[in-house]
Amino acid sequence: MAPQVPYVGYLQLGDDPHLVANECSSCGALFFDRRNACANCGAHDFGTRRLANDGVLRAFTIVHRASPDVQVPYVSGIVHLDGGGVVKANIVGINPEPASLSLGMKVKLTTFRIGTDSAGTEAVAFAYAPA
Ligand SMILES: [Zn+2]
Repeated sequence: MAPQVPYVGYLQLGDDPHLVANECSSCGALFFDRRNACANCGAHDFGTRRLANDGVLRAFTIVHRASPDVQVPYVSGIVHLDGGGVVKANIVGINPEPASLSLGMKVKLTTFRIGTDSAGTEAVAFAYAPA
C-alpha cells in the first residue's frame, strides 16, 4: 500500500479512519484547529477526542460554480456527529440534487485519494456518504 498523508491534520488514517478534535478540558467545546484559548469559556487547556464516524446531515448546499479543476455540481454539507462535533464536508455517493438529500439523513465518514506526489505518496481527504 502506498504511503498516505491526511489532507487535514484532524483526519487520522489507517485501518479505522476517523476525525480527532481538540476538546476544551473545562467545558468540552470541540475545535478542529489549534487554539490558545477556548472560544466558549476562555480556558487554556485542551485534550484530544476521537469523534464518531456517524452523524446526521443538518444543512447542505449544492454548489454549481467552482474553479475550473473542480467538478460541479457537488454537495457541501454540515454534519452533526453522533456524540458531539460539527463538521463541514462534502456529501458524496449521491446525486447532487435536492431530491437525493434530506435534512436529518444519516451519513458516515468516508475517505478518498485526492492526489499522488512524484514519490507515490497519496494525499487522502474525507467526506460523508449516506449511511
Ligand atoms: Zn471551554
